[in-house]
Amino acid sequence: MALKEELYYKSPIFIQNILTSLYGKKLMQERYGMGYEEKIKELREKDRTIDYRIEQLERLNAFLLFVQTHTPYYQKLFQEHDIRLPFTSLDQLQTIPVLEKETLRQQNAAFLSNIDAPVRGRTGGTSGKSLQVAFMREDVQERMAHLDYFKELHGFYSGMRRASFTGRTLTAVDQKKPIFWRMNRPLNQLLLSIFHMKEENLPAYIEELNRFRPAALDGTPTAMLEIALYMLKHKIQLDFKLTAIFPTAETVTPEMRRLLEEAFQAPVFDQYGSSEGAPIISECRERKLHLHHETGIIEPYGEGGEVVVTCFTTRGTPLIRYRIGDRMTLSHDQCTCGLNGPIIESIDGRGTSYIVSEKRGKVFEGDITTIARELPNSVLRLQVEQYALNQVTLRYIPDEQLFVPKHEKILLREMHKLLGSSMQVTLEPVRQMKQEPNGKTLIVRQSMK
Ligand SMILES: [Zn+2]
Repeated sequence: MALKEELYYKSPIFIQNILTSLYGKKLMQERYGMGYEEKIKELREKDRTIDYRIEQLERLNAFLLFVQTHTPYYQKLFQEHDIRLPFTSLDQLQTIPVLEKETLRQQNAAFLSNIDAPVRGRTGGTSGKSLQVAFMREDVQERMAHLDYFKELHGFYSGMRRASFTGRTLTAVDQKKPIFWRMNRPLNQLLLSIFHMKEENLPAYIEELNRFRPAALDGTPTAMLEIALYMLKHKIQLDFKLTAIFPTAETVTPEMRRLLEEAFQAPVFDQYGSSEGAPIISECRERKLHLHHETGIIEPYGEGGEVVVTCFTTRGTPLIRYRIGDRMTLSHDQCTCGLNGPIIESIDGRGTSYIVSEKRGKVFEGDITTIARELPNSVLRLQVEQYALNQVTLRYIPDEQLFVPKHEKILLREMHKLLGSSMQVTLEPVRQMKQEPNGKTLIVRQSMK
């Protein structure tokens, strides 16, 4: 453990609050500033009656010209493929080859732009090899402006009180005092640890929310859900009014959304792209997902519903037509909300989150979440774990009042419909879903060797 961290954990809680606020101040300086102010003003005032593709092409050309000048990997690639800039149409983007994760890993150094940008190490995926990634401050600030603008559309303004459920380790593992949160004063943000969501601790979390009275909740939705389920079970309501709930980092199933909205009495608005490599997508008041087209381009790729992303705010480590591993359904619909970015019909899951079936091939998270649809809200959460090609376990949290034995038959029937009748399905009712080491809870857990 780094000395800094060790000191933090050994400090009394009030000192930890001060350290958290100091760290918060550093992050704030990185994320807010001139670039942020300019961008958010632009977003508030811009003319959204024009065709978004005009602006997207402008941004794409500026990004590609930057990359051609500053990034060794693309300098070489553009030469080899005779890429002539600027493009006159968005279709020309397809003349640039798709970027695989493995290429990014193997030629990591060549992806770092020759600019003065802070470089951070980041562990990449399953191989555990650290990936070097650099970010330009202006890009970080532009992303913040987009995320804050999205929240403004739903009545939450930067500086208002918010409570964030976070997988950052805030407390020592062995801390006994039931104070599982820290205060980040510069942002008016209460950070709630998602690692202590045991039933006996939940009343303390609810009490703290009532004391702090945030305008919004954000962060890990499965952690919010633990509290929501507890509140519904014990017929507790918050004694203040929330404006909105903004989940990040995990898939929000329709079931989760219903429970969160019911327990917290506030609307849920989803977003995608909180990890830096992807363009930002956010949900509008009509409950449609819009691509923030100023941040990038999303194209369908191959047969399986996969997409490749080009993200304009990655100038430090540029990603062009990057095979990010996520699946989405794109739409040509129009929306009446006033935002002009293209609509994403649905985000269908992360690249690795699928069950392999002998009969059906890959069955993705998005389809797994439909299993409980035939039930009268009697399953609160579910998780499917695969152990072998023909063997899965379906874990579920039954609603104590609504779940009756015949619902087991329905779950089995739906599983077989989805995964084929030769799949051996074990049903396992549980009281709580197990968290991964990073605090997240998975819908699909792949344990096949
Ligand atoms: Zn809309």
